[in-house]
Amino acid sequence: MQLYKDQTLRIHNSLTGKKDVFEPINEGHVGMYVCGPTVYSNVHLGNCRTFMSFDMIFRYFKHLGYKVRYVRNITDAGHLENDADEGEDKIAKKAKLEQIEPMEVVQRYTVDFHNTLQQFNLLPPSIEPTATGHIIEQIEIIKEILEKGLAYEANGSVYFDVIKFNENHDYGKLSGRKLEDMITNTRELTAQDEKRNPQDFALWKKAEPQHIMRWPSPWGDGFPGWHLECTAMSTKYLGENFDIHGGGMDLKFPHHECEIAQAEASTGKSPVNYWMHANMLTLNGRKMSKSTDNNIYPAEIFSGNNNILSKPYTPAVVRFFMMQAHYTSILDLSDDALQASEKGYNRLMEALDNVDKLKTSGKSDFDVKAWQQKCYEAMNDDFNTPILIAQLFEAVKHINLIKEDNETISAEDKDLLASSLKAFVYDVLGIENQSLTKDDSNTLNGVMELLIDIRNEARAKKDFATSDKIRDQLVELGIQIKDGKDGTTFSVN
Ligand SMILES: [Zn+2]
Repeated sequence: MQLYKDQTLRIHNSLTGKKDVFEPINEGHVGMYVCGPTVYSNVHLGNCRTFMSFDMIFRYFKHLGYKVRYVRNITDAGHLENDADEGEDKIAKKAKLEQIEPMEVVQRYTVDFHNTLQQFNLLPPSIEPTATGHIIEQIEIIKEILEKGLAYEANGSVYFDVIKFNENHDYGKLSGRKLEDMITNTRELTAQDEKRNPQDFALWKKAEPQHIMRWPSPWGDGFPGWHLECTAMSTKYLGENFDIHGGGMDLKFPHHECEIAQAEASTGKSPVNYWMHANMLTLNGRKMSKSTDNNIYPAEIFSGNNNILSKPYTPAVVRFFMMQAHYTSILDLSDDALQASEKGYNRLMEALDNVDKLKTSGKSDFDVKAWQQKCYEAMNDDFNTPILIAQLFEAVKHINLIKEDNETISAEDKDLLASSLKAFVYDVLGIENQSLTKDDSNTLNGVMELLIDIRNEARAKKDFATSDKIRDQLVELGIQIKDGKDGTTFSVN
């Protein structure tokens, strides 16, 4: 269904600083690029929030009937410490520390990234390209920028000439910075510096002999600059001009500003029509940071194995909590906030379980069509999920009133209410009904208790054929039983 034909979607565009009406380049199609993770450590909860925000955006476009090509990269080379042009590659550093290959680091943390996002019910992107898989494309872009005279080679490295670029372009237009201010606020270059100006950034870095991640290039062995990979991969899969580019707020400068400069320098075109930035997550009112211990990983929230929260929370509750804030607002995670979200989540799931069972009558006390339009208005206003969720609870209130015979609903309205509610909760917000899985695990526990009892009785009667059969067949199903001093327990692989 091409719902988008009836909806006017506005997107807060960081480039214009206002909410712009979304007009895709190709009717019915959306091209969206989001900066993915640098895979050198377990994925951070703050990063999960960013990817969840763009997952919701991806889902809403799909819900509206757009064909979406969503590209989200994996940074597996070129990202140096402190996001700077000097220092160690984050992945190579970790590899040295753990005495493994850089690609083992990449593999380990890519798997962690995918597993975690899957637990949060994120849809996979349409394409997930890697920086190391696009070295040739990156070298080609550097050649083009050199040909235009907007980059220069120095001692085997290639730098982007920001001052020269700024003569005919506006460096700083995305982040709202002025080049003159940047120049007065930075340190002078020293004689050893290869850069002509401190604002210049690396397109290609010469690899020192000890640098493990290196590729041949026209300028000698080296590796690409971090900003370049996103220009190469977005252009390759979405074209020189595409609809949406997203990422965390912290990437606006210099990363995204440099992406614009590289693309404009090489193609002469503005690469992106709508720049979107998702805001950060704080923990108990403070910035999350590994060094201050004000930090929590997704797995620690799900298991309850942490010193910050009073109990475990399911991925669906955490996702619901995240969706209760607008993606451009700072969101603070705390035990109180998660407890409140858990209550809200349970009420919503209960209503979803009840909506199909509602009795119908000739007329409706609840104007479902008007309610549905308000839900769309919320989403069309720059993906305003908190307003959408407030509307969903408006529906919950009516479902409960109808259930208690204090209101009535017609059969037609009931169908519309049920299908819209499910579409917004499951398809758009991506919130799973895990109360169903809770029932499943209760059933499993019951069946396992019964099997363990039968096995123990068989063993007491020295009927080892039966007890071994139960154990062996469970192993085949991926269930291990373990006899301990406190009785028999089981675990599912
Ligand atoms: Zn990027």
